[in-house]
Amino acid sequence: MNTLKDVDPEIYAAIHDEVKRQRTHIELIASENYCSNAVMQAQGSIMTNKYAEGYPDKRWYAGCGEIDIAEKLAVQRAKDIFGAEHVNVQPHSGSSSNMAVLFSSLSPGNKILSMDLSHGGHLTHGFKKNFSGQLYEKITYGVSEKTGYIDYDKVRKLAKESMPHMIIAGASAYPRELDFAEFKKIADEVGALLLADVAHIAGLIVAGLHQDPVPLADFVTTSTHKTLRGPRGGIIMCKSKYATKIDQQIFPGIQGGPLMHVIAAKAVAFKEAKTQEFKDAQVQTLKNTNKLCSELQSKDYTIVSGGTDNHLFLIDLSNKNISGTEAQVTLEKAGIILNRNMIPFDKRTANDPSGIRMGTPSVTTRGMKEPEMLKIADWIDLALKAHEDDSKLKTIKSEIVAFCATYPLYKDLTDFDD
Ligand code: PLP
Repeated sequence: MNTLKDVDPEIYAAIHDEVKRQRTHIELIASENYCSNAVMQAQGSIMTNKYAEGYPDKRWYAGCGEIDIAEKLAVQRAKDIFGAEHVNVQPHSGSSSNMAVLFSSLSPGNKILSMDLSHGGHLTHGFKKNFSGQLYEKITYGVSEKTGYIDYDKVRKLAKESMPHMIIAGASAYPRELDFAEFKKIADEVGALLLADVAHIAGLIVAGLHQDPVPLADFVTTSTHKTLRGPRGGIIMCKSKYATKIDQQIFPGIQGGPLMHVIAAKAVAFKEAKTQEFKDAQVQTLKNTNKLCSELQSKDYTIVSGGTDNHLFLIDLSNKNISGTEAQVTLEKAGIILNRNMIPFDKRTANDPSGIRMGTPSVTTRGMKEPEMLKIADWIDLALKAHEDDSKLKTIKSEIVAFCATYPLYKDLTDFDD
């Protein structure tokens, strides 16, 4: 990175310090991961220079032969790992994937039945300040107050009452397995389209560790950078009958030139997702999440729904005399990164909710296993108990820095070793 250092020392310094931050902190944000060097090399490549509006063999610009190779590989590999009939790899993000699906199939004023944001849903599923909430009428389902699981009887009842045009199954903060087969039955009973948004759980699905919506749903969207461990971006999968309208909705509907360097990096990630190493990492993610969750539960932390089936869980801090925001700030001081989160039926606000969310994809990619989860649970507990004691938090942080050094991250980035 010497050229960057010379040309733009400020940006170089920010990247330098970010490498250091990632290396020295325990990363528990459930939607994050560490992509491979190979993914980063493709993403940092000269493919960023190329305009390629259109699709392989049907571009609006000359000189797209090599670009076409990359996009065809990305599409073929995505079809292969997900078993999808059609894949569009051009969406810039998970959000633009959802935007394209909604625009392709709904008219303003149509009804969407989706998960309540405060119960774990996503902004693009109908939040009032998001395009989805401004254009469509949203009806929300949620979890049962008693169990923390999605109440499918209630989903069916709401569907029958409201007769939505589309049902969205998917979430950003739901720790239990989604029953896509039940969603499909409900959608069929009311004649609704089904969109499965698997942004969080895509890696688990590819590894065969979560119910697979691809054979069932009309549309499946995902971001590519969470459990899937690729570059930041999105893809859309759909039945062949929707292929043309999805492709046209992405380009020219909502996007111009595709980010070809990112598409090349997606292709690399999809190749990696076929390996045994990737599958083993997904299995370990489930084991690690379970261990971290049960250990914190044994330390008297209240776990929403009583546990987890996937890569994340939520803690309700109501019995701990600390808010989600205070917990997030405290843990960052101690070297642990996670996010505050609303919990279902939260009595507090989104800005300062009662919960925190944590997941283990990143620490698993880093090579940590169950014994390390026990250590992390101890540090979380110690730090939260010491939230008013900065010197104690500093001590924990120094222990965590030493611990992180034993799980080296991006060893090849030697420029940043100082
Ligand atoms: N859908 C779900 C369920 C998500 O959790 C997210 C991101 O957190 C998205 C969509 C949006 O992805 P992106 O941040 O790439 O726009």
